[in-house]
Amino acid sequence: MAVNGEAKANGASGLAVENVVIIGSGPAGYTAAIYAARANLKPLLFEGLRSGPPGGQLVTTTEVENFPGFPEGVSGPQLMANMRAQAERWGAELETEDVEAVDLSQRPFTITGSSRTVQAHSVIIATGATARRLGLPSEDDFWSRGISACAICDGAAPIFKEEVLGVIGGGDSALEEAVYLTKYATRVHLFVRGNSMRASKAMQDRVLSHPKVQVHLNSAVLDVYGDGAAGAGDTQGSPLKGARVKNLETNEVTDLPLRGIFYAIGHKPNTELFRGAIMLDEAGYIKTQPGLPTTNLEGVFAAGDVQDHEWRQAVTAAGTGCSAALAAERFLAERGLIQEVRPAGGAAAAAQRAAAAEAEEARSAAAARAAAAGDDTLATFDINATSHRGSYALRRLYHESERPIVVKYISPSCGPCKALGPILARVIGEFERDIHFVEVDISASPEIAESANIMGTPTVQIFKGKALLETVRGVQPKSEYRRRIQVALEAKVEA
Ligand SMILES: Cc1cc2nc3c(=O)[nH]c(=O)nc-3n(C[C@H](O)[C@H](O)[C@H](O)COP(=O)(O)OP(=O)(O)OC[C@H]3O[C@@H](n4cnc5c(N)ncnc54)[C@H](O)[C@@H]3O)c2cc1C
Repeated sequence: MAVNGEAKANGASGLAVENVVIIGSGPAGYTAAIYAARANLKPLLFEGLRSGPPGGQLVTTTEVENFPGFPEGVSGPQLMANMRAQAERWGAELETEDVEAVDLSQRPFTITGSSRTVQAHSVIIATGATARRLGLPSEDDFWSRGISACAICDGAAPIFKEEVLGVIGGGDSALEEAVYLTKYATRVHLFVRGNSMRASKAMQDRVLSHPKVQVHLNSAVLDVYGDGAAGAGDTQGSPLKGARVKNLETNEVTDLPLRGIFYAIGHKPNTELFRGAIMLDEAGYIKTQPGLPTTNLEGVFAAGDVQDHEWRQAVTAAGTGCSAALAAERFLAERGLIQEVRPAGGAAAAAQRAAAAEAEEARSAAAARAAAAGDDTLATFDINATSHRGSYALRRLYHESERPIVVKYISPSCGPCKALGPILARVIGEFERDIHFVEVDISASPEIAESANIMGTPTVQIFKGKALLETVRGVQPKSEYRRRIQVALEAKVEA
C-alpha cells in the first residue's frame, strides 16, 4: 500500500502505526534510518536525550581516523551531524527525546517516548552503550564539579587549566584521554587497577614516553575529596582537591592532590528498558542470531554496540544498522504490512519543495553571516537584538539590559554542545525579544568562565537584574529550558 505525505493507518488503540521505529541515534540508528527512509518506510527515530547525547558516543570524541570515506579523518560530532542530515534528507522523522517504555509483547509494538506514544509494526533497537561510573562515596558530590566521564567535553574548562588531573582506566580510551588532557594539565596521573595496561602497544608506548603522564599500575581510586576528608560526604560546594588512592600490591593508601578526575572505565549496554521484554546475554547485551540483526522477537531487530561486545566500532555499528533496516523491510514486506510513504506529487508538492529550498538557503546564508561575524564587538553590538556571541556582549547586556539573559557556555569539539545547539535555538526562538541569548566559548573567554564558575560544557546560566537565577548543566529537554526562562521572566529582581 502506498500513501502520500504523513498519512498512516491507525492501530486498534487509535494510535498511528509506524512501519518502523528506531531507538537510538548513534551510527547504528542513523544508518538504519537512512536505509529505511530510502525504502520509503518513513521511519520514526527517537534520538535520546537524558539517556545519552543525540549522536551517540562519537559526539564525545575528537578525530575519527578509521571511518571509511574520510582519508584525512573526520571529527566525531561532524560525522554524526552528517549521518543525521542524511537520514533527515531521505525523510526520516527525528524526535530528540528518550523512549521511556516499550511493550514488545504483542504486535503492533507500543513505544512510549517522553512526549508521545506510538505503535509500530517493527522496531530497531540501537541504544548503544554508556560510560561506566565507579560509585565512589563522594562521586555524586563532585560529578561535573571535578569528576567527568568525558575529557573531550570538559578538559578545556578553566578549572582544569594548568592543574594536576587524573584518568582512571587502562584501555585505549583511557590512554587517549590522558594524552589529550596533557594539552591543558601540568601533569596527568593514570590509575590502572591491574598490573598492566589493556591498551594497544602503540598507545602504551605513547603514554609511557610522555613527560606529563605518570602511570600508576595496581592502583585503585577509593574516593575523591574537597576541603574535607575523603568520604566526608557533604562538600559544601568545595572544588575537588584530591583522590585517595590505594596501592593494591602494598595496601598503602595515599592522598594525591588533583583538580579533576576523568573516568575511562568502559561502557555498559543500554538495555535496562528492555530487561524482561527481550532476550539479553549475561552481560546485558541484546542477543542476536550470529551475523544477523534478528532477536528472539519477530519484528524486533538490534544493531550496534547494544548487541556487540566484540567489535564496538562506528563502522560495525553502521553496518549492523543497515542490516537491521533491510531485515525490517523484508519482515514488513513478507507480511504485507508496508505503508510506503512517497514524497507528495503535483504542483502543491513542487511549491512545498521550492519553499523548503528557499528556507534552507536563507538559513545557510544566516549561518554564514553569523560565522563570518564572530563575536559581538563595539561596532556590531545591538542591545535590542536577541542573540549575541562572546564576552563583550555578555558584559554589556549584564550591565545594561533588563531582560533575562540566557548564557550558553560551550567549548570547541564538545559534542554535547553541538547537540544542545538546535534544542536551545528552538526555545530561544519562542522568547524572541523578551530575553537575550549569548553564546560564550570558554576556551576563547576563560576569564568569563572562571568568574561564572563554569566546570564543564555545555552549561547554561540564566541571569536577570545582575543576579544569577539558574545553572543548568549538560543537555536537557526543551521543556526544562522553556520552564526556567518562563520563571526568569516572571522573577522580580531588585532594581
Ligand atoms: C571516546 C570514544 C572514542 C571512539 N572512537 C572511535 C573511533 O575512532 N572509531 C570507531 O570506529 N569507533 C570509535 N568509538 C566507538 C563508537 O563510538 C561506537 O562503537 C559507536 O558509537 C556505537 O554506535 P551505536 O549506534 O551502537 O551506539 P551509540 O553511539 O552508543 O549511540 C546510542 C544512542 O542511543 C541513544 N539512546 C540510549 N537509550 C535511549 C532511549 N531510551 N531512548 C532513545 N535513545 C536512546 C543514546 O542517546 C545514543 O544517542 C569510540 C567510542 C568512544 C567512547
